[in-house]
Amino acid sequence: MSQNRIYNFSAGPAALPLPVLERAREELLSLNGIGMSVMEISHRSKEFIEILEKAKSGLRSLMQIPEYYSILFLQGGASLQFSMVPLNFLGPDSSADYITTGQWGLKAIAEARKCGNINEIYTDSANNFRTFPEEGSLNFNADAAYIHYTSNETIEGVEFDYELKAGNTPVICDASSNILSKPFDIENYALIYAGAQKNIGPSGISIVIVRNDMLEKIPVGLHSVLDYSSFAKNDSMPNTPNTWGIYMISLVCEWLEEQGGISFIEQANITKAAKIYEAIDSSDEFYKGHAANRARSKMNITFRLATSDLEDKFCDEALANGFSGLRGHRLIGGIRASVYNAFPKEGITAFVEFMSYFASKNG
Ligand SMILES: *Cc1c(COP(=O)(O)O)cnc(C)c1O
Repeated sequence: MSQNRIYNFSAGPAALPLPVLERAREELLSLNGIGMSVMEISHRSKEFIEILEKAKSGLRSLMQIPEYYSILFLQGGASLQFSMVPLNFLGPDSSADYITTGQWGLKAIAEARKCGNINEIYTDSANNFRTFPEEGSLNFNADAAYIHYTSNETIEGVEFDYELKAGNTPVICDASSNILSKPFDIENYALIYAGAQKNIGPSGISIVIVRNDMLEKIPVGLHSVLDYSSFAKNDSMPNTPNTWGIYMISLVCEWLEEQGGISFIEQANITKAAKIYEAIDSSDEFYKGHAANRARSKMNITFRLATSDLEDKFCDEALANGFSGLRGHRLIGGIRASVYNAFPKEGITAFVEFMSYFASKNG
């Protein structure tokens, strides 16, 4: 580890790759010798358009996004998508199917219900959100305008191990916390969205990947900054975009490509997560995992200790040892180690040692 950086397990905003931060620092005062920072130039300038194109082509090539999908950059976080999805696609006489596997899914469905008829066709809430539906077990409503699900529930650490398919019904996915962590077959989706601050860049920007035929279903007269088609038509710039965010995304994509792309990072993520789960499973129940084994997230690893006092002690001692951001989400408590793409493997080795040391002292 270098330059006084500590191991950052924050769930989001989360750790960014060190080479990306260094590059941004280098270019902060003068981008490519133009004498201005990326934050000070027009979003219509040639320099910025190049950055925007680089961010898009980076995502397109990493995720193998077919050309009949548009890549949009929006503000308002993933949370705005909870509203934009139904505003754009849930007509007054139709309904949509929602699958709830955690707190973000709950928020998505609550917003969608403000727009129209929603059927929650699966929820794991009675089980405190530990798992996802068996593949092929769901009954979709034949006339649903779309199906919505959350591929990785960041708070509970519950991750689908398959991609949902619903025949001809459009599938819409909140992939905020596992996008770019493993391959997604884009053609399974009508729309995928993600806030950037977990795996793609800084907060304040989100990505929407939408199949172009969906854009034709959007009601006429929708407010333009809430309308996907106005972003698609105007190259994500019906108004001033988050230029800094788009710049950072372009650098993260470049970094990921240099690492070896999605298949490389997927393997790294599998190895990283397995080490922490192994530390949990071999602790003689000192650490207890939250998610069901099959649903264990590779991005957010959630576990508990015997008491909340002991969890406090764990977080305090971890911090003193250079591991930050481990406290579970305020809604559910416990411990959460978020280990997105940028989290270094050396940090995992050191943390697993700490876990074992702490268990032996306090077990
Ligand atoms: C973080 C997160 C959100 C919310 O993102 P904001 O950018 O804060 O709106 C939504 N869904 C998932 C799965 C998340 O991890």
